[in-house]
Formats: sequence, structure tokens, C-alpha cells
Amino acid sequence: MYSLKAYNTFGIDVKAKEFISVSSLSELQSVLEKYKHEEIFVLGGGSNMLLTQDIEKPVVHINLKGIQIAKQDENYVWVEAQAGENWHQFVLWALENDFGGIENLSLIPGNIGSAPIQNIGAYGVELKDVFDNCKAIHIKTQEIKTFTKEDCLFGYRESIFKSTEKGKYIILSVTLKLTKKNHKISTSYGVIANELQKMGITAPTIQDVSKAVISIRQSKLPDPKEIGNSGSFFKNPVVPQKIYEKIQEQYPEMPFYKVSEDEIKIPAGWLIETSEFKGKRFGDAGVHQKQALVLVNYGNATGEEIYNLAKTIQNTIFDKFGIEIEMEVNVF
Ligand SMILES: Cc1cc2nc3c(=O)[nH]c(=O)nc-3n(C[C@H](O)[C@H](O)[C@H](O)COP(=O)(O)OP(=O)(O)OC[C@H]3O[C@@H](n4cnc5c(N)ncnc54)[C@H](O)[C@@H]3O)c2cc1C
Repeated sequence: MYSLKAYNTFGIDVKAKEFISVSSLSELQSVLEKYKHEEIFVLGGGSNMLLTQDIEKPVVHINLKGIQIAKQDENYVWVEAQAGENWHQFVLWALENDFGGIENLSLIPGNIGSAPIQNIGAYGVELKDVFDNCKAIHIKTQEIKTFTKEDCLFGYRESIFKSTEKGKYIILSVTLKLTKKNHKISTSYGVIANELQKMGITAPTIQDVSKAVISIRQSKLPDPKEIGNSGSFFKNPVVPQKIYEKIQEQYPEMPFYKVSEDEIKIPAGWLIETSEFKGKRFGDAGVHQKQALVLVNYGNATGEEIYNLAKTIQNTIFDKFGIEIEMEVNVF
């Protein structure tokens, strides 16, 4: 039995019967061939999963490495990165080369291969804004297919890999279209503008934006190396205007973002805080003191304890506000 504690950012100590790390396509193909009549468990950086039980399926850790420039023109560069590259290291590589578009996504944990699955996003930018295509291998047929941006059906923390194609493909590489010049500086999120102001910067470069994002994230989010967590545990719910108005009568201070004519996004963190869960601890499972959206493992919590806490939060919010909040983290 193989402990997965070091392979998931929640630091949950579950065991895998079998653990295979693959660092080339041919290795992956032979593993898929060997297990073609069984299910496998695909593991990237383990930063978006809650493991509640031992894994009976063979765990296949995607460790394909390599970054290469696929093509470029005067203004843009198309960079293909293999699935096992660490996302943040890739962002730093892009910044060193002065390639723009992903600086707002600095310090997001996990690997490139998982980034399209939930269309990672932060501070006003999502992967889809720079995504060109990804290559993926079908787990059962081993057919290799290229998915364009349109194919991926990206949405808020959503893609085809979380809906109709869920669990069917392993992403092998991702190609992003980054800017070489005339970078679009995205500081529409007030906190970034404030941080840059604190840093005394009036004409920010992409490197400055990255530094500001890193500084904000380090001050707000718990570092999984110090305290187990998986970032935002829940998605922010989007509700019809009417429901929003009804809740707002009772809670006029409720924050919101209008997403369409008739739809309003409500911060799940606010719902959790208003339900008095922020900073609460139940054994070693808890809700972070600064970020109500982040569930944490104070040391020896089991995945089941964290899952039960998540369920309690969901039920309490439903009873109090009539809103169902959905888990962003993948529970196994
Ligand atoms: C502190 C912290 C902060 C975070 N902040 C953010 C944030 O700001 N924005 C955001 O969007 N997310 C955030 N996250 C979530 C997480 O970083 C992302 O979801 C990330 O993309 C997960 O990558 P991973 O490699 O760790 O995926 P894993 O946890 O390993 O896997 C996630 C899912 O993808 C599958 N999978 C993994 N690799 C592949 C592959 N190559 N092909 C097919 N399927 C695969 C797994 O089976 C699993 O279902 C945060 C997490 C943490 C811990």
C-alpha cells in the first residue's frame, strides 16, 4: 500500500493499492493498455481533490514534462506545456520570457494538465482567455485528440472535462497563446490595483502584476505546506435575480456580482461567514479563520471528516438562504 499523503494538498493519509508515475507518452500508453479492462485514478498535483477513502484503482500520476514554443508571430507566442509541468513554475517561466496573459493566475497550485478541467481562474482572468488547445488521450480507446477552445465549452470553473467527457480523457499537453508585446494589464480587481499602489507602482508590467497577486494570495490564503487545504472548497452560487432580491431584503449588506440580465453571483464565502462557520474547528477539520471558503486540515483530519463538515455547511446554507452551494473540489 502506498500513502498518498504527500500527493494531495489536503494532506489526507489515504493509501493506494498501486501507484504509477508516468513521465512519457509511451509509458502512459503501456499503462492504459495494461489496465484497459479496469478503471484508473488520474492524479496531477493533488490540489483539487478530497480523498475520503483508500484508492482501490491504480493511481496514475501524470508527470509528463517539457515546455516548447509551438509557433510565434510578431505579437503572440503559442507555448505548448506538457501536463505534468507545475502551473506556477510555468507562469514564472512565461514572465522570465516576458510572455503575458497568465500573470493574474500566479501561485495557483497544481499542474498544467489539470488547468483546463475547471478552467482555473483568479483576479479577473481565466485559463480560457489564453487557451488555444489541448491534446488528450482517450483512456479506453487510446485515441489522441486535440480539443480547441470551442470544444472545451469553458465556463466558470467548468469545461467539457467536468461534464460530458468527465473521466474519459487524460490531458497530455496544453497550448496557450501568450502576448509578446502590448501586454494587456488586467487590474480590474480592486485588490490588485490597491496592492500595486502600496508597492508604489503606477505603470505596472506583467511582472509587477504577478508580484502583486503573489503578495495578496500569500496574505489571504493558507499555504498547503503549512496547513492542508484545497483552496476554495465551494463554487460561488449564481442565483436568479428574484432569489437574490428576497435574500437582500433581510441582508442589505450582502455582496453580489451581476453576471447577466437575470442572474446574480453571490460569494459563497459570505454565505458561509454569515452562517457562522468562519474559523470554526471540529477536531482537525475546520473552516479557515481568514477565508471562509477554504476548508482546512489542521493535522490529522480524515477526508470523511472534512466531507461531513462540507455537507453540514451546504445543508445549513440551504436551510438559511434556500441556496445550494456546489463543491468545487473533486471528492473521491
Ligand atoms: C491554496 C490553493 C489555492 C487555489 N486557488 C485556486 C484559484 O485561485 N483558482 C482556481 O481555479 N483553482 C485554485 N485552486 C485549485 C487547484 O489549484 C486547481 O484546480 C488546479 O488546476 C488543480 O490541479 P492539480 O494538478 O493539483 O489537479 P488534481 O487535484 O491532481 O486533479 C484534479 C482533477 O483533475 C483530474 N486530473 C488531474 N490531472 C489530469 C490530467 N492530466 N488529465 C485529465 N484529468 C486530470 C483528477 O483526476 C481530478 O479529478 C487552489 C488550490 C489550492 C490548494
